Amino acid sequence: MSDGSKGLKIYNTLTRQEEKFEPLDPANVRMYVCGPTVYDFAHIGNARPVIVFDVMFRLLRRLYGEDHVTYVRNITDVDDKINARALRDYGFEIEAGRLTLNEAIRRVTERTADQFHADVQALGCLAPTVEPRATEFVLPRGDGRTDMASLIQNLIDRGHAYAAKGEILFDTASMPDYGQLSKRRLEDQQAGARVAVDPHKRNPSDFVLWKESSIEEPGWEATFTVDGQPLTIRGRPGWHIECSAMSAAYLGEVFDIHGGGLDLIFPHHENEIAQSRCAHGTSEMARYWMHNGFVQVEGRKMAKSEGNFVTIHDLLNTDAFGGRKWTGEVLRLAMLMTHYRQPLDFSVRRLDEAEATLQKWADAQKIAAQIDWRTLNARRQEANPSSAVLNALLNDLNTAGAVAELNRLYKVAVSGNEEAAFQLVGGWSLLGFSLDEIFAHADVDAVAHAALADDVEPLIEKRLSFIREKNFAEADRIREELSAKGVQLMDYKDTETGERRTKWEVKR
Ligand SMILES: [Zn+2]
Repeated sequence: MSDGSKGLKIYNTLTRQEEKFEPLDPANVRMYVCGPTVYDFAHIGNARPVIVFDVMFRLLRRLYGEDHVTYVRNITDVDDKINARALRDYGFEIEAGRLTLNEAIRRVTERTADQFHADVQALGCLAPTVEPRATEFVLPRGDGRTDMASLIQNLIDRGHAYAAKGEILFDTASMPDYGQLSKRRLEDQQAGARVAVDPHKRNPSDFVLWKESSIEEPGWEATFTVDGQPLTIRGRPGWHIECSAMSAAYLGEVFDIHGGGLDLIFPHHENEIAQSRCAHGTSEMARYWMHNGFVQVEGRKMAKSEGNFVTIHDLLNTDAFGGRKWTGEVLRLAMLMTHYRQPLDFSVRRLDEAEATLQKWADAQKIAAQIDWRTLNARRQEANPSSAVLNALLNDLNTAGAVAELNRLYKVAVSGNEEAAFQLVGGWSLLGFSLDEIFAHADVDAVAHAALADDVEPLIEKRLSFIREKNFAEADRIREELSAKGVQLMDYKDTETGERRTKWEVKR
C-alpha cells in the first residue's frame, strides 16, 4: 500500500494520542459524522460538529483530491422525541383521522431536515457526500446495503445479542474489551451500579438493539432467528444501531475517521464500536475518533430552563441573541476561532470579535488600492493558502492557528504584497468562507466578480431548466463545463418556495 500520509496529525480519542493520519485507501478517504435528530431546530451546540467536520472534509479534499473523500453524515429520523413532537403538533389531526401517525412523523422530520439544511448551508458547510436517513436502513434493502435488522441478526448469530421481554439486547459481557473508547471498565460499571438494574438484562450495561412498539408507536415488522426459532417483533431500533448500519452501508466495515461531539463518546460511540466490531468480526470500526468540545452560552451550560437556549435559526433570522441578527459567516468564524477540542463559550462578545475580523478581511479595497485587484480576483481559483495556514490545519485541525495566520497575512497583503493577498484568498477558501461574501463588500471587486457572474449565471439557469425537464444528461454536461472552468455548483432547496436553486463558488 502506498504511503497516504500527507502530514496530517489527528488527536485520536481511542488512543488518547496525537497520531499521523494514514488512510486505509488514499483513493477513497472515508469519514462518518453523527448527524441531527430531526425533531426541532438545531441549536448552536449542534452547529459546532457540523462546522468542524466541514473544515476537515475540505482539508481532506484538498490533500487527497475532491473525488477521493467520502463523507457520510446521517439524519436520525426515528426517535421517541420525534414521535412526541408529531403527537404534539398533529395530535388533533391524528385523532380526527385526517393524518396517520406515520404521516405526521414524516411531516415533522421533513420540515426539520429542511430547516437543518438551510441552517448549515448558511453556515457555509458543504453537503456531505451521502446523507442517509435512518428509516431507510431499518429493514433489508433492495440494493443490499447494510441495514439494521441484518446487523442485529449477525450479532445474535455470533453470540453477542439476546432476546428478552420484547427486546433484543447487546450482551456487553460477550465483548472482552468493551469500553475501550470511553475507558469505562465493565466491572466498574457493574460494581458501581446503584440504580436498580432492569431484571431482564444480563448485565447492567447491556443496551437495546431492537425494542417492541406499542400500537400507538411507529414500528417495523422484523423477524429474527433466535435459537433456531423465528421471532417477529413489531418494533423500532435502538439509537446506536443506525450509525453502525449506515456507516457500513457507505464506508465499509472499517473506515478512517469517525467524528462527533464529546457528549457522544459514551454511550453512543462506545456502543457503535461494540455493535460494528462484533457484527463484522473486526478488531476496529474506525481508525481515528475525533470529538469536538462542549459549547456553553455566555458562560453557562445551555438549557431551555436557563433561558440561554440558542438555535442557529434564531441567530440568523431573529434578534433573540444580542438584540440583532448575525450572518452565517460570523457564526462560522466564531466557532473556528477556538480549537475544536477546547470548550467554547458562545457569547455576543465572541460574535462581535468574529464580525470585526471578517469586516477587516472584507475591506479588500485597502488591498486593491495597492495591487491589481482584478487580476488577483481573476486568478483566485489558483489561489493557495500559505503553508503556515495549511500547517496549522494539518496540526490536528488547529483552526485557531489558521485564523491567526490569516490575520498576519492580511497585514502583509494590505501593505501591497500580492503574494500574501493571494494566499489570504486561498486561506479563506480552505476554511470555507465564501469568497463571494467577502468580495461582495469590496466595490472594486464587484466589477470583476460581475464579469465572472455574467458567464456563470445564464448557464446555471439553463441547467435548472434542463433538470426541470428531467434532461439530466444535459444538466450534467453544464455542471462539468463549469467545473472545468473552476466553478463549483451547489444545489439547495429554497425554504420559502420549495424550489430547487443553485449557488456557486470558485473552487480552490
Ligand atoms: Zn452515531
